[in-house]
Amino acid sequence: MDCVVELAGVTAGYDSKVAIEDINLCIKDRSFTGIIGPNGSGKTTLLRVITGSLTPFRGTVKVFGHPPVRVRNRIGYVPQFFNDDPYIPFSAIEVVLFGLYPHIGMIRRPGGKDVERARQALDTVGLLDKEKEPFGHLSGGQKRRVMIARALAGDPDILILDEPSSGLDVKSIRIILDLLHKLNTERNIIIILVTHNINQIASYLDTVVYMRKRIYVAGNPKEVLSKEVLSELYGAPVDVFERNGNICVLVEDSHA
Ligand code: ADP
Ligand code: MG
Repeated sequence: MDCVVELAGVTAGYDSKVAIEDINLCIKDRSFTGIIGPNGSGKTTLLRVITGSLTPFRGTVKVFGHPPVRVRNRIGYVPQFFNDDPYIPFSAIEVVLFGLYPHIGMIRRPGGKDVERARQALDTVGLLDKEKEPFGHLSGGQKRRVMIARALAGDPDILILDEPSSGLDVKSIRIILDLLHKLNTERNIIIILVTHNINQIASYLDTVVYMRKRIYVAGNPKEVLSKEVLSELYGAPVDVFERNGNICVLVEDSHA
């Protein structure tokens, strides 16, 4: 099987409003894909189609050769928004355990084996020492890592993350992106993420997808993140620097 995730002619949206149109995409085994594009360009909608939580108007979606809902337990999803109310009455490990419910089923209570899986997932994200801490008391970066642990607890083959680093400080972003890189290279987990932090992550990505309702370009970071391609996409002069293998994209402020 060449594509682990394959979309062909996918158009999807809400009510009758089209949010993504004629999407063709092939995501390969072991790859790390970054999806970029302006707000409202359909990035979250694309992820929802891949996870099977939204059915397209047209086209086909296959994950490991099946409709996504059939392989839900092989997909881990970290949503962009989650309840981070400081008074949320759950500890970090309880939040991770909720991620196991689709695997446990609603009837059975989580058992010792489930708790062990949840603890292992917290250990993977470096937060085992916070297992009993109220979720709401954790820092923004730690909450995101707990949400990643929650997705990892079900032992997914694909991890899909919606802006996992948005709103975080540089150090927390680094911790999360390094963690994802490790999961990809050491555990061979296929990673698909939406991000605005393209500069910090470009060197880890196999593929960058730029979308604005449609996919405008998809290719390796060197191709997509070139001065020519980006200047065209942004409609403003863009400079791209490379230093120690890191790519840095600088969009000139046209109002300056
Ligand atoms: P992005 O993640 O790139 O910001 P989205 O996929 O969230 O974009 O949204 C794409 C378009 O679909 C936007 O025009 C947005 O307003 C619309 N949209 C998103 N979610 C819903 C929803 N639940 N109901 C109706 N319209 C929605
Ligand atoms: Mg979004």
